[in-house]
Amino acid sequence: MNLDFSPEDQAFRAEIRAWMQAHVPAPSGPSLGIPTHKETQLAWERCLGQKGWLAYQWPPEHGGPGWTATQRYIFDTERALAGAPGSSPFGLMMLGPVLMAYGTPEQKARYLPKIAAGEEFWCQGYSEPGSGSDLASLKTQALRDGNHYVINGQKIWTTQAHWADFMFCLVRTNSEVPKQQGISFVLIDMKSPGIEIRPITTIDGHHHLNEVFLTEVRVPVENLVGQEGQGWTIAKYLLSHERTGLAGVADSHRELQLLQAAVDSETALATNPLVRRRIAELGVDLMALEYTNLRTLDRAAKGQSPGAESSGLKIKGTELQQAISEAQVEFGGLAALPWLAPVGNGDPTFQGATQRYNFLRASTIYGGSNEIQKNVLAKMIGLG
Ligand SMILES: Cc1cc2nc3c(=O)[nH]c(=O)nc-3n(C[C@H](O)[C@H](O)[C@H](O)COP(=O)(O)OP(=O)(O)OC[C@H]3O[C@@H](n4cnc5c(N)ncnc54)[C@H](O)[C@@H]3O)c2cc1C
Repeated sequence: MNLDFSPEDQAFRAEIRAWMQAHVPAPSGPSLGIPTHKETQLAWERCLGQKGWLAYQWPPEHGGPGWTATQRYIFDTERALAGAPGSSPFGLMMLGPVLMAYGTPEQKARYLPKIAAGEEFWCQGYSEPGSGSDLASLKTQALRDGNHYVINGQKIWTTQAHWADFMFCLVRTNSEVPKQQGISFVLIDMKSPGIEIRPITTIDGHHHLNEVFLTEVRVPVENLVGQEGQGWTIAKYLLSHERTGLAGVADSHRELQLLQAAVDSETALATNPLVRRRIAELGVDLMALEYTNLRTLDRAAKGQSPGAESSGLKIKGTELQQAISEAQVEFGGLAALPWLAPVGNGDPTFQGATQRYNFLRASTIYGGSNEIQKNVLAKMIGLG
């Protein structure tokens, strides 16, 4: 999309582009959509952290660079177009805003600087077997014992738990009240005795998901965020931030560019009107999504919460990610098959397309399934 940037923003874009060119290793082919190599990912996040650009969405008083909404948009676009990975959202996009809004001064001082520097990695302990869409039914129990909570239960689908230093977690502190009122939000050190992590390998062939078992895990009471029983309110606040981030506009731009380049390099594809029409349709959908995203960013810049609009972004953003990946696999043909990737029609830009396609089946499920997002929107306009 050609936005009319001011001379200052154009200079800012040139600075970011030059820095990315100097720091991002040359990428190839479609990206999986989630990091799979811990050291590479953490090194990249620390590199951004040292530059002061990791927590680029945060206000300056908490370690952000103080960019405008336009500058943040430019940064994310340039990051994606350079083929650099997105940063892990758990500390930056989810816990960070929660601590700024609900954390004690001690919690802010202890955790925010380490997240902004890329020195501590977080995971999200919400879902449980039987408590995904119906999250408020969660059963993991936290009983008060002096200055600690003693936690027993199981979390599932915990992304990168095996990488994480800490997990922010929803636990049940009261079973006697309506289910939403008995939930609390706690911070758990993943090195605590009683935590067992078991891997789940997914259809893309990688290990990024886990089961996390908690047995008699002792968590200091100062790790409670907000009040006891306030966890559901905090969880909803966090989810609206999570969903806005899931639209993935900048990365869809890069993937569409890769698709266009791959098509252009194959005469049979480049001259096929149905292929060109499909790419044009994807481009139009991306432009519409981008305008909606920009409106939400503008509201966030004015200090307004993303609210239920983030559900619309999540639905359209993830549907578009899947549509682009479907086209990558279809147009790639043999070249998109994982075991034929280096040969096939010889075009490296289709490499990895099938793994990406497989991973992205999950995008309409994680962060709250798209059916649930539609329920949220229906309630908002009075249909629910
Ligand atoms: C790749 C991946 C990463 C994830 N990472 C994390 C993580 O880091 N931390 C974490 O806590 N969780 C994580 N999750 C879990 C995710 O949030 C849940 O999978 C999701 O909320 C759906 O819950 P569920 O799997 O229990 O499915 P269910 O809730 O059992 O839903 C099954 C189906 O029924 C539909 N459905 C359910 N209820 C309704 C309803 N009321 N109306 C209409 N349709 C409905 C759903 O849309 C879905 O299609 C991850 C999931 C995936 C796939």
